[in-house]
Amino acid sequence: MTSYKFYLANRYVKKITTYTYKLLQYIVEANGHKWLDEPEKADFILVSLIGTRELNVLRTTRRKYKNKPIIAGGHAGYNPELLALFADYVNVGQGFQLFSDLAFDKNIGDLPYIYTPGKRSVHTSTFIHWKLCPIIQIGENTFSYLGSVGCEGKCAYCLTSWSNQLQINPLLNSRISRHIPKHLQLYVISNYALGDQNKRKIADVKIKDAIANPRKYAGITNWRAGVEFISPEWRRRTGKPITDEHIREFLAVAKKYNRQINLFLLAGVEDPKLWLDTDLFYGDHITKPRINFVINYFEPHLGTPVQNFNLTRLIEYPFRKITYNWMSHNGRIWAWQVCDMKLKTTILSVITERSRTMEDFKFTMDMKKAKDHNAIFEAAAKEGFEHLIKGKQHSAVIGPNHEALKRAIRKWVDYE
Ligand code: SF4
Repeated sequence: MTSYKFYLANRYVKKITTYTYKLLQYIVEANGHKWLDEPEKADFILVSLIGTRELNVLRTTRRKYKNKPIIAGGHAGYNPELLALFADYVNVGQGFQLFSDLAFDKNIGDLPYIYTPGKRSVHTSTFIHWKLCPIIQIGENTFSYLGSVGCEGKCAYCLTSWSNQLQINPLLNSRISRHIPKHLQLYVISNYALGDQNKRKIADVKIKDAIANPRKYAGITNWRAGVEFISPEWRRRTGKPITDEHIREFLAVAKKYNRQINLFLLAGVEDPKLWLDTDLFYGDHITKPRINFVINYFEPHLGTPVQNFNLTRLIEYPFRKITYNWMSHNGRIWAWQVCDMKLKTTILSVITERSRTMEDFKFTMDMKKAKDHNAIFEAAAKEGFEHLIKGKQHSAVIGPNHEALKRAIRKWVDYE
C-alpha cells in the first residue's frame, strides 16, 4: 500500500471549512493517505471546483504552486480539457476511486478517469463507496449527506443527469434515523425528494408527484421545483415532462398545504413577449404562501445535448417588466432578485467553458471588459474566436450516458 500526502487548496469559504473539505479529508484518510495543512509538504495539491465559474481558484493555485502536481476535480471535472490548462491531472467523475487506486500504487496518469493534456479519451468514474460516504457536520446543528447522484429524467440542458448514472444511496434512511436526531437540520444532497422528508425544511419536489401525493412532502416547508420554460413547446423540446395544467395545479396544491415554493426558470431562448404576457402564474391577491422565482439564463453546458447551441440566438429579457407583470397579478409572487441578471455574464461563462487553448482562455478574459454580449459576438467574429460562440468544441469524456448523449446531440442539431 502507498500513502500520499494531500493538501486541498480551496479549503475555506469565509474561513469556514466546507462540505467538500470534510468529505475529501474523510476519503483521503480512510484510504490510508495523509491530509495536510502545509502545502509545501504535500505530494499533490487538490482543487475541487463546482463549476467553471470558479476557474480562477485553479489559476491562482497554479500560480502559487508552480512545481507541485495539481489534481483538479469536482463537478467542473467534466470539462477536463479546460481544467488541464492549469492542472496536471483532472479527475473526471466521482473522487472515491482515485484515492483507493493511488493507495494500491497505481500510476495516476494511467488511470482511465484521469485526464492529462493530450489524452484522447477519458472515462467518467462512477463508483461511489456508499458505506464510506460520511454524514458531514456543516454547522453547529446542521448536517449534510449525499442522497443520490444523477436523475432518471434527461432534460436536454441538465449536466447533472447526463454526466452521472442515477445512483441512490442505499443507506440513506437507516443512517439518517440512526445518526440525526429530529431536532437537528439535515440537507440531503440529491435531485430527488429522498430520505426522511420531515427533517428537511427545503427540498426538491417533482411537480407531478407533489400534485398526486402532496402528503409525502408535508414535512417540507419550502418546495423547490423546475418549471424552466413558459411555453409547452420548449418544455417538450428539452424533455421537461410537465404541462401548463401541471404547473397551475402545483401552485394550487402549494397554496392548499400552505407551502412556500421556489420555481426555477430558464430565460433567453423563448420570445420575451411570452414571458411578459403569460398567465401561467396568475392567481388571487392573497400574499401567502410565497412563490419565489429563481431565474437564470439558459446555459448550454458542454456534455449535454445542447452543447453546440449558437450563443447569438440567446435573447436579453426585460426582467423588471416581466416580474412586475407577474407580481401585479398574483400577490404570492416575489421575484425582485432577478432584475440585475445580465446576458453578458452567461455568455462569458459559456465561452470560458468552451475554451480549449490558452488563446481561447485569454480571449474570454479580455471579454470581461466588453460593453455587452453583442460586443463579445463582434470581437469573436473579428478576432477568430467564433468557435466559442457557435459551439464547435467537443470533449474527450466518455460519460455513463455517452451513446445516448451522442444521439441526443445529433437530434438537437436537427432542432436548430
Ligand atoms: S432538470 Fe431536474 S428533472 Fe430534468 S434531468 Fe435534471 S434533475 Fe432531472
